[in-house]
Amino acid sequence: MERDIFDEDHEAFREVVLEFIKRYVTNESIARWESDGEIDRATMLAAGEAGLIGLSVPEEFGGAGMLQDYRFRTIVMEEVIRAGAGSLAGAFGIQDDLAVPYVVHMGTDEQKAKWLPKMATGEVLGALAMTEPGAGSDLRGIKTTAKRVEGGYLVNGAKTFISSGKTADMVVTFVKTGEGNRPDAFSLVILENGMPGFEHGKKLSKMGFHGHDTAELSFTDVFVPQENLISGTEGKGFIQLMMNLPLERLSIAVAGAAAAEAAFEWTLAYTKDRQAFGERIIDFQNTRFQLADVAVTVDALWAYVDKALLAYKDGKLSAEEAAKIKFWATEREWEVVDTCVQLHGGYGYITEYPIARAFLDARVHRIYGGTNEIMRDIVSRQLAK
Ligand SMILES: Cc1cc2nc3c(=O)[nH]c(=O)nc-3n(C[C@H](O)[C@H](O)[C@H](O)COP(=O)(O)OP(=O)(O)OC[C@H]3O[C@@H](n4cnc5c(N)ncnc54)[C@H](O)[C@@H]3O)c2cc1C
Repeated sequence: MERDIFDEDHEAFREVVLEFIKRYVTNESIARWESDGEIDRATMLAAGEAGLIGLSVPEEFGGAGMLQDYRFRTIVMEEVIRAGAGSLAGAFGIQDDLAVPYVVHMGTDEQKAKWLPKMATGEVLGALAMTEPGAGSDLRGIKTTAKRVEGGYLVNGAKTFISSGKTADMVVTFVKTGEGNRPDAFSLVILENGMPGFEHGKKLSKMGFHGHDTAELSFTDVFVPQENLISGTEGKGFIQLMMNLPLERLSIAVAGAAAAEAAFEWTLAYTKDRQAFGERIIDFQNTRFQLADVAVTVDALWAYVDKALLAYKDGKLSAEEAAKIKFWATEREWEVVDTCVQLHGGYGYITEYPIARAFLDARVHRIYGGTNEIMRDIVSRQLAK
């Protein structure tokens, strides 16, 4: 089904993205990212130069100024995922959807001036650290504290599963600044690489997204100056996280739809090429029926995701709507990618093939950004009101 949400500016931007992919996303670079376990800085700088990251950074700070128009980010994700580089799409997503928004929407003027120009170029990479070894879904159970001292805070604690945790230069970190677990007991502070007591733990060995680093972080009496408190106001951290959740969840839904579409396209081509019993794989009725189901699912995914993209642009995507689409899209993605692996036979299991990597990458979409059980909980609580 033809999609109708993109205008000429979006399509011109798609050409820029495709040009970048032609230069920087090759089989060799994907293999290198996978074996290094991270995206090299030169690629991130090239992405900054080409205007593929920092899309929501206002123009006065060197960005594209696409504050609410997530369609440009969608194009980046679609094309990078279609090129088989899910890890690169992940690294771009952490920068643009998890780190930059806290500075753009909630930063003080000084924070914007300090961080945004370099985040737009890729000179500064960001991360968001909420999860701890003992608290993921239940974020109010975190133990990392920021105790007020003269001129700032002393931060102690540990975080885990932090995407871009090894490569990031600054980490927006969820901490306790008060007693108990009331929403106003939490704040967001920016920790910077090189601050004494800020250590990077081991890079975690993951099932998928092998080309994107995920790490543990630990903090021992890290002095964080007052000016690194997001928005300059203590006790707003929980609300600030909630404010960015619709975007975070929308971005995972977009990644899910993009991966499902890419899997469909790769599989269509593969089954037309591959032969068995003297016929093309696509000539078996089972293959055609499976692909017909996948084609409809991909159409439905985009119809739903596109509607959410327009709602987000108009400032109307609620937390509940974002939760719905996150769990629905990532579960359809999972089914589609699994079907497509099967239609590739043994090659579907070999990670040189993008379909195998897409399968491994897809699994975490149902876990991070809030697990799909938590998404159902949010939606069902709203229904029960
Ligand atoms: C590759 C990867 C990248 C990540 N990147 C980041 C990042 O950049 N920053 C960051 O802060 N975090 C990140 N995370 C963490 C991720 O968001 C958490 O893993 C996720 O929120 C789940 O938390 P948990 O692992 O503690 O699971 P738990 O909360 O312990 O959940 C375990 C199980 O219990 C279920 N469960 C929990 N509570 C309920 C409930 N109320 N009702 C029903 N079921 C429930 C869950 O759905 C899950 O199935 C990442 C994780 C991974 C794997």
